[in-house]
Amino acid sequence: MTQRLILASNNAGKLREFAAILDPIGFTVHPQGEFDVPECDEPFATFVENALHKARHAARLTGLPALADDSGVCVNALGGTPGVYSARYAGEPKSDANNSAKLIGDLKSHADKSAYYYCVLVYVRHADDPQPVIADGRWMGEISATARGENGFGYDPHFWLPSMAKSAAELTPAEKNQLSHRGQALRVLVEKLK
Ligand code: IMP
Repeated sequence: MTQRLILASNNAGKLREFAAILDPIGFTVHPQGEFDVPECDEPFATFVENALHKARHAARLTGLPALADDSGVCVNALGGTPGVYSARYAGEPKSDANNSAKLIGDLKSHADKSAYYYCVLVYVRHADDPQPVIADGRWMGEISATARGENGFGYDPHFWLPSMAKSAAELTPAEKNQLSHRGQALRVLVEKLK
């Protein structure tokens, strides 16, 4: 028997990634938009609080188990920013190109370009679940001023992987999933759900 699960996002790429891994272990993943769940705010200063908030919101409005993720890029020379503010680093309306341009500008005077992507996933069985299942992943790289590659999204063209001599946007979706913060977190979550 399969268990329905609400994904607290309407991002088609994330839905595909999550469904590919969760379907085989008995979960049918539905985006929250299918149940008319509106996007909720992300008011907290930590990834885990935002993800828990989103998961509870989706579970409360649907009465079903829910999975949420929160992620961002953290730059060491900038004290971990933009972090939870990655999506809107350059302000509204949110723009990947403006965010990357701002980040490169802010890092210009720093020799240390090291950075990492971070992702946390939270699964709740119901809105008031006292024991949410939590998994996270971290992907180390460097911020490069030069944009390379067409794949991925967000900061990927500027997220340089020295060991591969490629940017994250030069990886295929399958390669990125093998390495990425989101892929790592998802594999940890699956082990816990099993
Ligand atoms: P969210 O988790 O969908 O709220 O994403 C947060 C923001 O972090 C995104 O809008 C991107 O700017 C950035 N981000 C998170 N994961 C990635 C990634 O895999 N590639 C590029 N940017 C990412």
